[in-house]
Amino acid sequence: MSVLVYTESDKGSFKKAAFEVASYAKAVANQLGTTVTAITINANDTAELGNYGVDKVLNVTNSQLDNFNANAYASAIKQAADQEGTKVVVLSSSANSKYLAPLLAVGLSAGYASNVVEIPTNTSPFTVKRTAFTNKAFELTQINTEVKIIGVSNNAFGLVENSGSASAEEFSPTLPELGVTVESVDKATDKVTIADAEIVVSGGRGLKGPENWGMIEELAEVLGAATACSKPVSDLGWRPHGEHVGQTGKPVAANLYIAIGISGAIQHLAGVSASKVKVVINTDPEAPFFKAADYGVVGDAFEVVPALIEKLKAFKAQQ
Ligand SMILES: Cc1cc2nc3c(=O)[nH]c(=O)nc-3n(C[C@H](O)[C@H](O)[C@H](O)COP(=O)(O)OP(=O)(O)OC[C@H]3O[C@@H](n4cnc5c(N)ncnc54)[C@H](O)[C@@H]3O)c2cc1C
Repeated sequence: MSVLVYTESDKGSFKKAAFEVASYAKAVANQLGTTVTAITINANDTAELGNYGVDKVLNVTNSQLDNFNANAYASAIKQAADQEGTKVVVLSSSANSKYLAPLLAVGLSAGYASNVVEIPTNTSPFTVKRTAFTNKAFELTQINTEVKIIGVSNNAFGLVENSGSASAEEFSPTLPELGVTVESVDKATDKVTIADAEIVVSGGRGLKGPENWGMIEELAEVLGAATACSKPVSDLGWRPHGEHVGQTGKPVAANLYIAIGISGAIQHLAGVSASKVKVVINTDPEAPFFKAADYGVVGDAFEVVPALIEKLKAFKAQQ
């Protein structure tokens, strides 16, 4: 009956989202008076999950699953849910989890609510709060099926440490035939990804050209942040397409999003507005982004950003 959480890893190491969904699953388990079981696939240090409320880990070790395969991953999670008699499955909002969730929902005859931002507001009827209309509204969604699947929005719940410990056991699901296999993965960068980053520093057309990105990268480095950009910037080839954020790019739900020389067009805001704190640096006081910002600096990026870097470096040197 325990709550089952799928905790994602990359090359054996857990992603930040894994600890967030584990924290969330623990909160739901407390509501339901039950425990948390995690399913991991080729993860290394499963004991880490105990720090976030997981009681038991079902660890799948299988080289066929080194690369993500939605069918196979969904099948493994379904078998874990069946074994545990689970009524609630918790996933992250990563691209992979959003891909496998509908397959899992079919397998478990479960209702699936994505983009959930809080623990259930009610467990009978089972009701969750989620974002709607590209983060412009919230809706309360009732899941009426016996088994429920919750996709938690990135950074919506946060990490909640727990003093417990997790027992681990090997789990060997029967895998379906892998219709598609990944032969190799060539990552564009080893830097912190936009999805995993606590802080994202993003540049727009106001930066005039790719030669001016040094200060964006330096600011990101000082803050331990990921770099991102607006769509025209990647369209112009100033930055790689993997950095394009917004409605048609990657979604950002960071704790801090710093937008530099970005006007704040609706299509850009649609993808970044889930970030907790938004800081805007723009010369134009009428730029639409200021209406969505928590903090704004009306000023020239070429003056403000170097000054900010200097201050941050001085601050860090004192720590
Ligand atoms: C279907 C569709 C989908 C789209 N999807 C996306 C998407 O996913 N993501 C996205 O970003 N866009 C998207 N767009 C494009 C979007 O509409 C805007 O055109 C785009 O976001 C503008 O990018 P920008 O803010 O970098 O450039 P601009 O609109 O040119 O704004 C540049 C800003 O920089 C400021 N500036 C200029 N000089 C300085 C300086 N020295 N210091 C500080 N500020 C300065 C200006 O005041 C201005 O506000 C989409 C458009 C369509 C039609």
